[in-house]
Amino acid sequence: FRLPDPRNEPNPLYKKGSEERIKLEEALVKLRSQLPVQSNIYYNGQAQASAQSWDQPLPAEHATVFTNYPLATKEQTQAAIESALKAKKDWEETPFVDRAAIFLKAAELVTGKYRYELIAATMLGQGKNIWQGEIDAAAELADFFRLNCNFAAEILERQPPRGADGVWSRLEYRPLEGFVYSISPFNFTALGGNLISGPALMGNVVLWKPSPSNVYASALVYKILLEAGLPPNVIQFVTGDPDTITDVALSHRDFAGLNFVGSSDVFRSLYGRIGEGIAKKTYREFPRVVAETSGKNFHLIHPTADIQNAVNHTIRGAFEYQGQKCSATSRLYLPESRAEEFLTGLKAGVKEITIGNPDKNLEAFMGPVIHRRSFDKIKSIIDASNKDSTLKLIAGGTYDDSVGFYVHPTVYQVDRPDHKLFNEEIFGPVLAVYVYPDAEWSSTLKKVDEAGGGFALTGAVFAQDRRAIREAEDTLRYSAGNFYINCKTTAAVIGQQSFGGARASGTNDKAGSSDVLRRFTSPRLIKEEF
Ligand code: GLU
Repeated sequence: FRLPDPRNEPNPLYKKGSEERIKLEEALVKLRSQLPVQSNIYYNGQAQASAQSWDQPLPAEHATVFTNYPLATKEQTQAAIESALKAKKDWEETPFVDRAAIFLKAAELVTGKYRYELIAATMLGQGKNIWQGEIDAAAELADFFRLNCNFAAEILERQPPRGADGVWSRLEYRPLEGFVYSISPFNFTALGGNLISGPALMGNVVLWKPSPSNVYASALVYKILLEAGLPPNVIQFVTGDPDTITDVALSHRDFAGLNFVGSSDVFRSLYGRIGEGIAKKTYREFPRVVAETSGKNFHLIHPTADIQNAVNHTIRGAFEYQGQKCSATSRLYLPESRAEEFLTGLKAGVKEITIGNPDKNLEAFMGPVIHRRSFDKIKSIIDASNKDSTLKLIAGGTYDDSVGFYVHPTVYQVDRPDHKLFNEEIFGPVLAVYVYPDAEWSSTLKKVDEAGGGFALTGAVFAQDRRAIREAEDTLRYSAGNFYINCKTTAAVIGQQSFGGARASGTNDKAGSSDVLRRFTSPRLIKEEF
């Protein structure tokens, strides 16, 4: 067989009055009129209720409940795992073409029948504007479903070279012997789709726990997969208190793999728990651990940079989706000779940023941050920064939670790169700037590596001088898993820029490539002599 050629889903422009814009506006009005929407837990082939539930407020309007969803109990989580394990044999024996066909069909449903509903759910639930909703819940989600099929096929074809006559060595890519626990983050609906489809395409059964702040759009993804023909028990959709669900999953003998996107701190504690489980011989096998976590991503501007281009990229990298991408730009290094020009451009750009409720002001560049906890954290960082006499406020420094969780785009200049603002992940629209003497370019490169709080996710250099680019690339070898030249730290495209970082930013298994799918296999080498 040959799979359809890999391709990225194109993004419509959503110009006012266009067909796609009208359809999206209708989907937003419809979803609004249905609030609060209900989500469910799914296992054993059906929706399950629970005595306890949580409400997620609309980030843009916290007095309104967006969705209500059940909190799975320990017993329900246990039952979900058992139903996955029961489905394991059939799924494992399902031919790869049939598994792939399900995800290819799901991609068609994502880009067709459900496109606007998915985007509307992500705009309201996650506080994204139209374009951020489109690139996530439509294009990237479909890209993961489609391209993960190509990546899986690429692995299945990887076979040992032909050896001696009369000997046939072959590799059988079996799934892991147990279930995979996938934990998806709030900030990308598409990432949930990736964290479940990769392992499932390799024949694994999955326990999926979406972020408590991305339940409704994730439930829609799950519904689409069932409609595309996914047998009900292959993936279990379990919502609720992360600790309760995780406790059960990580104490189970058949826990065989973790597929995680979230914060470094949460990952550290999960890894520690898994280590304890291994020490106590809880598990049948050593679980695979795959994680993409936090970042403190840099833009490094060389004196020869095209300043206007660098300013534009910095504004998008730092403030699109309110700085809530793991890849968001949060530290900026400026050469003294170009600092004034850059900061003037940056201030002018920030002034033009519009902020608003995603479904009432569809043109707004920025929306709210995700929830109260996040708002309070960013607020306390801004309050402390406003009082810090070593910092210079360049823009913003304000917030407003009277209606929704709004933080204004904020820029501070630090006087030393070991300042907290250069080392702690904020996950909000706060950018810190350090101005270095031009003559200290080479030593600044080393400082870029020393700062950043131990994270190494994404980073970018902006320069026209090739020697400067070469020096940055060589000096910063381990400072970023994704290194960009003359373009921003965000917006990796599936199949083009595989994504992930090392150090405190994760296991660097590269989402959006075959590498990560291989991690969810347990290959058997078969040698036969004739
Ligand atoms: N892949 C996304 C990007 O390149 C970021 C994913 C994340 O936030 O985890 O911007």
